[in-house]
Amino acid sequence: MWQRYSRQIFFPPIGEEGQKRIGRSSVLVVGAGALGTVLANNMARAGVRRLRIVDRDFVEESNLQRQILYDEEDAARTLPKAVAAVEKLRKINSEVDYEPVVADVNPGNVRELMAGVDLVLDGTDNFEVRMLINDACVKQGVPWIHGACVGSQGLSFNILPGETPCFRCIYQDPPPPGAAPTCDTAGVIAPIVNIIASIQSAEALKLLVGDREHLSRDLASVDVWENSFERVDLSNARRPDCPACGERRFDFLEARTGWLLLSMCGRDSIQVSPPPGGKVDLVEIAERLGQLGEVARNPFLLKFRADGREMVLFGDGRAVIKGTDDEAVARSFYAKYVGM
Ligand SMILES: [Zn+2]
Repeated sequence: MWQRYSRQIFFPPIGEEGQKRIGRSSVLVVGAGALGTVLANNMARAGVRRLRIVDRDFVEESNLQRQILYDEEDAARTLPKAVAAVEKLRKINSEVDYEPVVADVNPGNVRELMAGVDLVLDGTDNFEVRMLINDACVKQGVPWIHGACVGSQGLSFNILPGETPCFRCIYQDPPPPGAAPTCDTAGVIAPIVNIIASIQSAEALKLLVGDREHLSRDLASVDVWENSFERVDLSNARRPDCPACGERRFDFLEARTGWLLLSMCGRDSIQVSPPPGGKVDLVEIAERLGQLGEVARNPFLLKFRADGREMVLFGDGRAVIKGTDDEAVARSFYAKYVGM
């Protein structure tokens, strides 16, 4: 049993005791894109007990350049990323308990997603979701490790509630839409993703084995094109008036959840999310839509083409509507074909 982990056990800061601790730990990876696939790969190979992977998206050809757990077949099958990732990880390490979750992380489900986890790893590409993770983690005292990449740059820092500044101490409020560059507008190259997710993974291992002394209290910033590797000291960055860790006001966690519309930047598409807890019958809807347009379905989602647009509808009622960046158009397309 220990043969698999022998190289990690020979490494003195981990050792047999550390390996046992890793083998008892539960980790949540939020987002199974570029960062998330590297994170999940490293955690599964390291031998965590339980790995919960949540992602709202499905595999597309443009992901394959950097999202290491996917292949052409996954894209052709339009598999949800959480499902495709776990399918691959089971072949890599079958000893781990995997929990794939195909969902959008929102204030209504974040507590449930975090239940019983020792650590949260950030593989998202979205500021609002990070603020939400931050609120949930600070409130419950669960550590999380932030990572972000765009172009050839990336950064990472640890949020250890009660010890380090939290995400909101550093960023305060989300930038207005369109203000920050994203992978969809500025691109991203695979090497920076691997570096940042690897820094996050190393910090995760330190945390899981209980080596808090070696945990980084800095912000690591890397630009692989400009040959820059920097560390920014965050020891004075904690703000006593931070709404989250200072005043313990969790605005993002308490946000009202109704219908959410989210423009998927640079992709000419809108995500329509019904209030949490909804479920749709994909078989029944596929049958009905088959008379109105072109339908393809797998057990997790259906693809529907009509009126010059394409919709991908997930089992939780969430849909991504392609071919428009107008929320009203997306909402009425959804209402017309799925219902309210
Ligand atoms: Zn704070």
